[in-house]
Amino acid sequence: MVVGCVIGGLLGAFHGVWAWRTRLYPRGGRGVALAVVDATWSLPNTVAGAAFLAYALARGNRVDVAFSRHRGTIGLRDGVIKGFATTVGPVQAGTAMGVDDHEAVHVLQARLFGPLYLPLVLVNWVVATVLPYWLLYHDRSASPITDPRTYFRHGVYPHCWHEEWAYRRQGTPPPT
Ligand SMILES: [Zn+2]
Repeated sequence: MVVGCVIGGLLGAFHGVWAWRTRLYPRGGRGVALAVVDATWSLPNTVAGAAFLAYALARGNRVDVAFSRHRGTIGLRDGVIKGFATTVGPVQAGTAMGVDDHEAVHVLQARLFGPLYLPLVLVNWVVATVLPYWLLYHDRSASPITDPRTYFRHGVYPHCWHEEWAYRRQGTPPPT
């Protein structure tokens, strides 16, 4: 418990340092509101994002300062998973992949659902894996399910609630 609090505090401070270095939050009431949400209701997501950021930086990724400034999202230049942009809390890895609006939906979802966000995503992953309800409406001619790889890539992943929502805003699930 104590160790968890210390690690959480350090990661929170790490987020604060990068928020300051990138001028992350916009000026005025909106910026204050975003900073307060990230430090309170959405704190579990902020801490998870900071851990993701530390991991990415340790692997040689770099913060995209121009992207991050006043955006409320810390951008990392490169993706962490090859070929994909990934967002954890207020941290987006992969800023040049043409999916910024899609990833912004995930940042918003984390702030809206706060401590419930990651558990809700996890529960949906598990349910979609063991009980593939999405087969009822999945377009099998456009993206066939033929093996475990396509089961997850075309089925489980894009049909989780947070991805259905984000893909409605921008992009299409991976075709192959
Ligand atoms: Zn997504």
